[in-house]
Amino acid sequence: MVGSQHIIFCKKSGCPVVAREEIFQTISTCHTNVGHSGRDQTWAEVKNNYAGIKWDVIDIFLKTCTSCCQRQAVKSLPSGKAMINLSFLIRVQIDLIDFRSRPDNEYKWILHARDCFSKYSWAYALKSKRAAEVASHVFDQFCSFGPPRIFQSDNGREFTAGVIQEVCNMWPGTVMIHGRPRHPQTPVAI
Ligand SMILES: [Zn+2]
Repeated sequence: MVGSQHIIFCKKSGCPVVAREEIFQTISTCHTNVGHSGRDQTWAEVKNNYAGIKWDVIDIFLKTCTSCCQRQAVKSLPSGKAMINLSFLIRVQIDLIDFRSRPDNEYKWILHARDCFSKYSWAYALKSKRAAEVASHVFDQFCSFGPPRIFQSDNGREFTAGVIQEVCNMWPGTVMIHGRPRHPQTPVAI
């Protein structure tokens, strides 16, 4: 009993169990506390402070967050420019594919690199999405196939980290850019 409220605590985590009708408000508070960060950060905040909220509810909640939905809409606007690709290894895009739901033992991520001209793809199994691990594969790829002129990734922390930039700095002809890599299936306004 705390004040006039009955509160049940989870025996395992020692966190208060959130009543069904308060789940939305609780997630909302946690989501605001982490500055409208994505699912993982919001989930970490919820998990560290409360019990009785399931992981998948976070996803549902995030779809209802007005500020996050607006931000997404702005992000996905086509820029109105067509990408010009002249030959192999002019522009290579990288992204991470989340395989945490179907891990192969300790490998939970796939680093995917794709040449925009030839559509040739490289894939590397990763144990984590730590920047150092990503960087070591980027380094291997540059050594084996040569560095691209433009190396493009999204704004994920694993790509914006200094260690990736350092790898790119070893090849002065390579420019690293961040921004949403345009998916080939996405229609592009010309
Ligand atoms: Zn939000």
